[in-house]
Amino acid sequence: MNAQNLLKIARQHGAPVYVYDAEKIESQYQRLTNAFKGVGSLRLNYAAKALSNISILRLLNNLGSGLDTVSIQEVKLGLMAGFKPESIIFTPNGVSLEEIEEASALGVQINIDNLSILEQFGSKHPDVPVCIRINPHVMAGGNSKISVGHIDSKFGISIHQIPHLLRIVDLTKMNINGIHMHTGSDILDIDVFLYASEILFETAKNFKNLEFIDFGSGFKVPYKAGDIETNIEELGKKLTTRFNQFCEEYGKELTLAFEPGKFLVSEAGYFLAKVNVVKQTTSTVFASVDSGFNHLIRPMLYGSAHEISNISNPKGKERYYSVVGYICETDTFGSNRRINEISEGDILCFKNAGAYCFTMSSNYNSRFRPAEVLWHKGKAHLIRERETFDDILRNQVDIKDLFETPKAEVLK
Ligand SMILES: *Cc1c(COP(=O)(O)O)cnc(C)c1O
Repeated sequence: MNAQNLLKIARQHGAPVYVYDAEKIESQYQRLTNAFKGVGSLRLNYAAKALSNISILRLLNNLGSGLDTVSIQEVKLGLMAGFKPESIIFTPNGVSLEEIEEASALGVQINIDNLSILEQFGSKHPDVPVCIRINPHVMAGGNSKISVGHIDSKFGISIHQIPHLLRIVDLTKMNINGIHMHTGSDILDIDVFLYASEILFETAKNFKNLEFIDFGSGFKVPYKAGDIETNIEELGKKLTTRFNQFCEEYGKELTLAFEPGKFLVSEAGYFLAKVNVVKQTTSTVFASVDSGFNHLIRPMLYGSAHEISNISNPKGKERYYSVVGYICETDTFGSNRRINEISEGDILCFKNAGAYCFTMSSNYNSRFRPAEVLWHKGKAHLIRERETFDDILRNQVDIKDLFETPKAEVLK
């Protein structure tokens, strides 16, 4: 995806706009598949919450991916996008029994992450196979905001509760067909991940009817040249050997499942915003774009350092800028970035804008959410229209009668 094509899209569809490169999503999918080609049965369930546009879901379904969902709405989106119910896994946390039952009635694989719901669901539906989410208490990532496997995490059933879990399974006669973990968002150290996997294998031995083991996700992608990224190929080699060995011990070929979000779509995404104002202050030069954390909240929420370039002036002299938004809050996208000289009206391009960017956008400041475009085989396809004023008013109830005091009343 080159800058010329991105500029053309910004001109045609306006800014701000999200652009996704289909080819990059496909190559990442192939890369992960290749890394695990030594496994007899591999399932990649794309984590829909990273980027849930129905056209992106269709693309992934077309590649042969399954779908990992965290809400009944994502389940329904997946079904609408053409996924078969059996290709969808529902991995929510903290949702009601009713929502789990609704998903189950649609035929999707249920994954339960607490003993209370497990006991209630198992008692009512002992014949429905269920996957259980285990918390191995391993800190896989470096940033506590995005690590979910450690001791204080709200996610999963603690490995220390296995005896209680087994008692529930035994008493309800429910069928556990899968076992799952999702340790955190960034796997920096493969050995830590493999260590957590050992805990999962150990736990798996307690269940006789397993069909799959789901290792979650957390593949780290580079945000700039030289960034640490998960070495997928090395992880593939090591985990494949260990997994195949486990299946032999277990006496059955199981499916190895992953549920990557970021890995598949992060680098495929570009966010384009127009510079409204270049403002020189006593300490810095601000470039204010027609966006803010209403469109891209990751830099403010997680400190994510999205690379920013000026695609309108790629040969311009490099200068230092603080790139900020137009929201009435501090919404700094990047401080002290060296960027080719910026003029008002230029289009800035934010990289790694595929995962958790559009899906976390909002209408804060009563702004419109941006358009989304899919770049596929050299053509730009609009896959979401920019919002309009009607969208801002949608679902609002204007109780104007309450505040229109009749004139006669006022005079009395
Ligand atoms: C969010 C999530 C994922 C995807 O994580 P990435 O870091 O985007 O790959 C996978 N599994 C579960 C259960 C999740 O909640």
